[in-house]
Amino acid sequence: MIPILIFLGSVALGVQAFVGLAFFISCIWEEEKRASIFAGIQFLGMLLLLIIFLVLAANGFFNKGFGLVLLILGYVLAGAGVFLLVKRSEANPMALQGTKGRIRGEVERFDERAQVFARNRSLKPGSEQYKRFYEEHPEYEEYDARRREKGGPIGHPGTIDKPHEEADVAMALASQSMCLFLSSQDKFEPEPHFYLKEKVKTKRSVLSPEEASDRVKGYALHLGAALVGITEINPLWVYSRRGEIFHENWDDWGKEIAVRHRYAVVFAEEMDFRLVGTGPHTPTMVESMQNYAKGAYISTQLAGFIANLGYSATANHLRHYDGLMVPWAVDAGLGEVGRLGYLLTKKFGPRVRLSAVTTDLPLVPDKPVDIGVESFCNICKKCAACCPSQSIPAAEQAVVNGTVRWKLNAETCFDYWGKVGTDCNVCMRVCPWSHARTFPHRLIVALITRNEIARRVFSVMDDLFYGKKPRSKAPPRWASFQ
Ligand code: SF4
Ligand code: SF4
Repeated sequence: MIPILIFLGSVALGVQAFVGLAFFISCIWEEEKRASIFAGIQFLGMLLLLIIFLVLAANGFFNKGFGLVLLILGYVLAGAGVFLLVKRSEANPMALQGTKGRIRGEVERFDERAQVFARNRSLKPGSEQYKRFYEEHPEYEEYDARRREKGGPIGHPGTIDKPHEEADVAMALASQSMCLFLSSQDKFEPEPHFYLKEKVKTKRSVLSPEEASDRVKGYALHLGAALVGITEINPLWVYSRRGEIFHENWDDWGKEIAVRHRYAVVFAEEMDFRLVGTGPHTPTMVESMQNYAKGAYISTQLAGFIANLGYSATANHLRHYDGLMVPWAVDAGLGEVGRLGYLLTKKFGPRVRLSAVTTDLPLVPDKPVDIGVESFCNICKKCAACCPSQSIPAAEQAVVNGTVRWKLNAETCFDYWGKVGTDCNVCMRVCPWSHARTFPHRLIVALITRNEIARRVFSVMDDLFYGKKPRSKAPPRWASFQ
């Protein structure tokens, strides 16, 4: 019996040292200096423990007396530790209901005209729409006018990376143009291809909802989406009125947005952790914009595919949204909303951008998920501590417009974007869920998604290894601003 216990003990300590080594290598690969030092010390400690154990075992120390007691005690402590970290904690019933679980009162549909981008990007001073809007919302007029004078984000009138920002701004705007190219009505609401136009008038596809869902999801992933889910559209998350105008289509401004489709296919693209790691500098904006362009590319083709089956479909991307992407993504089971107001996914944390296609093609909706985000964010608060404009609440969730959540201050966040000339992304960069998905980080995510104690342990470890206020990373040479 004792030799078996010693053998299993050596294997367990060997596995522990291997995980320690993997974490050390991961930190070096991530180019995280501080984390590499701590992970290196941790690995050496684990290795030393393994060597001491093997030497003592070879000398018969664990065969009797105090050594045997120590061996048994080690088993008890290790077993208890593993049990406490691995057992599944109680589910969060609110998360499992998706956005419905968060409703606490009357929810007013959001008017896109009041959204910070629409006010500052679309409204032209002196125009009829400008007058109409600020007559209804005098509280914003002076604030927005001052903001306009200073210029907006995305490289205008300059960024914190002056005078070496030129190439990054040029790349970001090139990607942004792709979204614009795909934002006229014939693009976001495509007609069937002319080969099929006559055919689908008389005969729509007869795919079953299950098969249609499989094909739509498979095609989205094939086109480059990293995650995809389907939800039945809750009308509460559809904008009430149109506010963003990109093609001088001012007749649309203020028009009611009808809930025409029953389903939304929502998908996320992964953002590169190295570029996100540079936030708030310009390379992070290059990555945001290329992801938006990817979202426009995928959603436009997906909408085209559905139109070719004979059903109506609308692409939702950076330059054409009918609804709010984050609540749709939550209901489609892509993740949960974090303290920072973004979606946190199991696979990539908040390092994603979202797009969608709404349609009347019958589909099978997915279910919302509980991956422990709410309880992790209750412990963590790192994004709130690191946000340069204090736009993220460190306090408890509150009821805002009838739903319980953490409410990001979009006004001060957008002001900061204007100040640095980028889309910042500091909150996304520092979030412990944003690390590259190397083997050790996958292991950590597997534990924190199921266990409350693991959330506490790894939140503390994240501060220790990466720092309470992690610094931004150096960009790759092609996106350098120095
Ligand atoms: S993007 Fe920047 S300013 Fe905005 S909430 Fe995140 S950290 Fe704060
Ligand atoms: S940084 Fe922490 S508190 Fe903020 S979203 Fe990420 S896990 Fe939640």
